[in-house]
Amino acid sequence: MAKTDSNLLKKIIAHAKEYGFIFPSSEIYDGLAATYDYGQNGVELKNNIRTYWWQSMVQLHENIVGIDAAIFMHPTTWKASGHVDAFNDPLIDNKDSQKRYRADVLIEDHIAKIEGKIDKEVARAAKRFGDAFDKEQFLATNGRVLQYREKIAAINKKMQTAFAAADLQAIKDLIEELEIACPVSGSRNWTDVRQFNLMFSTDLGSVAGDASNIYLRPETAQGIFVNFLNVQKSGRMKLPFGIAQVGKAFRNEIIARQFIFRMREFEQMEMQYFVKPGEELKFYEAWKEKRYNWHRVLGLGEENYRFHDHLNLAHYANAAADIEFNFPMGFKELEGIHSRTDFDLAAHEQYSGKKLQFFDPRENKSYIPYVVETSIGLDRMFLAVLTAAYTEETLPDGSERLVLKIPPALAPLKAAVLPLVKKDGLPEKSREILHELKYDFNVQYDEKDAIGRRYRRQDAIGTPYCITIDHQTLEDDTVTVRNRDTMEQIRVGVSEVKTTLEKETAITGLLRQL
Ligand code: ATP
Repeated sequence: MAKTDSNLLKKIIAHAKEYGFIFPSSEIYDGLAATYDYGQNGVELKNNIRTYWWQSMVQLHENIVGIDAAIFMHPTTWKASGHVDAFNDPLIDNKDSQKRYRADVLIEDHIAKIEGKIDKEVARAAKRFGDAFDKEQFLATNGRVLQYREKIAAINKKMQTAFAAADLQAIKDLIEELEIACPVSGSRNWTDVRQFNLMFSTDLGSVAGDASNIYLRPETAQGIFVNFLNVQKSGRMKLPFGIAQVGKAFRNEIIARQFIFRMREFEQMEMQYFVKPGEELKFYEAWKEKRYNWHRVLGLGEENYRFHDHLNLAHYANAAADIEFNFPMGFKELEGIHSRTDFDLAAHEQYSGKKLQFFDPRENKSYIPYVVETSIGLDRMFLAVLTAAYTEETLPDGSERLVLKIPPALAPLKAAVLPLVKKDGLPEKSREILHELKYDFNVQYDEKDAIGRRYRRQDAIGTPYCITIDHQTLEDDTVTVRNRDTMEQIRVGVSEVKTTLEKETAITGLLRQL
């Protein structure tokens, strides 16, 4: 099925709810905007993604260690990091629909529409020229495409200039010039653009007057920066070395939408790699490649990934790129790789008055390391996996099946153990086999309904193998193993089941390919 299906996101949301992956938060009270709960299958998939990330970072690298810092941090942290003054989104309201938008997103959506027109031209030409079609040449020479591209470049330039100068009026002028209309009301009746800080704040302490205002961390990275020296000294780490962390982050997003793509409470998997100044770009390139490899090995389809190099760099970065994924709403940021210079450590040194430097014995001097970071949203990765996995199939007999082709190493359950019938000692034998497997794998027993329906239920949650116990099992200790993707069934000895599951479903299998 085409992953650009405009209904795909709706289908994924409905499926995720029906099969215990993701529920709207506090649903009995009609939910809370842009907040979601992970259900019994969702939590397993999420844990597996997290484990794959963690092991690939910490276990596979001698010089990377993990930490788990608190969500609350001293409020000065966020002064130093720039979040108090600059973690803003430019928002704009449509006066007719009362809907609020991020001004930059309105402009980017407009650009995406023009890009869509280029894609259409390409599709049309490809049809017309057939096998002789040379896409690169067409893109470089077609008059209409060139015009669209010029238009996009001009808009980008204006947008970047306006943002670089924090010129809110210029941003509004651009929205008006492009005649961007509100998708809800269709009108162009806009308010001025205003800045809106994305951090959630709360009070620490119970005594009125004593309570101090603190923030819920908007990124996990700062917990790593403030612990840089603790880890370096206690672990006797030498440059280059990395600190990895997985944890919740909170952002009061203006437009939280598109399911778990943009939430107000989400989880990040971040790794900060501390290097000698001057070596950062070498490591930046290396991490771009390593992180792309981490994705590639999952087999979600290389065509679903692309790099987006930032031209408009944040003031603290000297190189930055996103790994974008082809989500149901198009290519969007999944992960960021940033060369952040010494911006964070230098700022914390300044605000805390504590030295945050590395003593380099080879050079016999101390300096503030530079940082290359990789930062991926766990929830966005979850959505990427669901997007690639969700498959509607028409079988040779004309029937339909819905299967989640989740990479087996990430699948919530590794196998279902199914007695063919609920009698003749088959349930007992099945439980015996289940008992053998459950110490190593997340397996499930199911005896309800006809076997075909049970297979479909497992397909729908992405279980890679179904192990069926029938009368022959009692005689010769063999079972049938059904493969989720091919639906082929093979007969193997009970003892082989464990070997198959180990070989085909262990995260180790992914790690070995990195
Ligand atoms: P965006 O431009 O989409 O808002 P960002 O550039 O602000 O993202 P970063 O600050 O680089 O994102 O955060 C690193 C990663 O955290 C992102 O690549 C994304 O996967 C994830 N992330 C950021 N904001 C959210 C959110 N509101 N909900 C879910 N994941 C998020």
